[in-house]
Amino acid sequence: MALVSDPVLELDCVTRRYGGTTAVEELSLSVTDGEFFTLVGPSGCGKTTTLRLIAGFEDPTSGTVRFGGTDVAGVPPEDRDVGVVFQNYALFPHMTVGENVAYGLNFADPPGGVSDEERVAELLELVDLPDTQARDPSSLSGGQRQRVAVARALAPGPDVLLLDEPMSALDAKLRERLRVQVREIQQELGITTVYVTHDQEEALAVSDRVAVLNEGTVEQVAPPRDIYHRPESRFVAEFIGDNNVFDGEVEAVNGQTATVTASGEPLLVGIGDWSGSSVSVGDRLTFCVRPEDLTVASGSNRLTTSVMSAEFLGETTRVRLDWRGHELMLRTREALDGTVTVGFDPEDARVVERRD
Ligand code: ATP
Repeated sequence: MALVSDPVLELDCVTRRYGGTTAVEELSLSVTDGEFFTLVGPSGCGKTTTLRLIAGFEDPTSGTVRFGGTDVAGVPPEDRDVGVVFQNYALFPHMTVGENVAYGLNFADPPGGVSDEERVAELLELVDLPDTQARDPSSLSGGQRQRVAVARALAPGPDVLLLDEPMSALDAKLRERLRVQVREIQQELGITTVYVTHDQEEALAVSDRVAVLNEGTVEQVAPPRDIYHRPESRFVAEFIGDNNVFDGEVEAVNGQTATVTASGEPLLVGIGDWSGSSVSVGDRLTFCVRPEDLTVASGSNRLTTSVMSAEFLGETTRVRLDWRGHELMLRTREALDGTVTVGFDPEDARVVERRD
């Protein structure tokens, strides 16, 4: 079967150790042409190391990195056709904005046969900072400086753009604006992009596909909607968005639904989506229900809970509930207090793990 698009970039069973620490372990990924591919995961899970292995700033302890099918072992960063943007702007303070962008052309001629000056003007236009060539970087806002850094990385016309937490130094509103701009630039150029973030919302917002990393390994690679609605492990279910996680034992199986007893109460759980082997009586399963799928006084499963706390967030209120000693979370527009019956339908429950 032909692939839809050949991978531009592949990591094949890559491991990177630092002394006794394994930063990345037997990690395999493949990124296709023009894709916006995001590595997301908690601090220390190996995101930056993976990006540095792609850029060529690090060598794998074992395994292979390929660009366009070719092993790039020993190829230095400047010969890999990658543009890199780091988290702290890293612009040269003694150079103007124009000189900073032109610095990206020190190692390669501008694409399309244009002059350096034309290329710099073109890129500043692209990142929505036209006519800022003579400005001093210190006169720009944090978001503007990061856009200059993106322009500098793109100047030589790299095949791949690598972004390591480029928004992390910015405030929340600016981050949201900049992520939209970065996505627009990426789409306009159609450039293959690998983006590193610890922010799961950012990952869902900008990516074609997301790889969730945990302790140096890949937990799941999928488009954002699948990562959110079809997590394949407990880790992904809990790391991406809020979730209610239940552990229970199968009492009965009836077609696409199982009766699973959790905290002493039988609950109907949809098993049609479960990608593991068939579910049998006695299996111990972990399943989850998103807070937005838990509703007040409706749904086939009814749970009697008591309100522990409520956080008013504007468009919604996040309510923490106690159910038989188990904490649940619900999102609602109603003000809730005291004892509350909540419910969910079997199809809103997703099995993520079978425990041995
Ligand atoms: P963060 O979100 O905090 O930046 P990360 O997911 O990018 O984290 P990495 O920076 O890739 O994680 O680090 C992965 C692991 O490897 C960590 O335990 C880290 O301490 C370790 N590590 C990374 N670089 C080195 C190094 N040069 N020497 C020793 N250990 C390192």
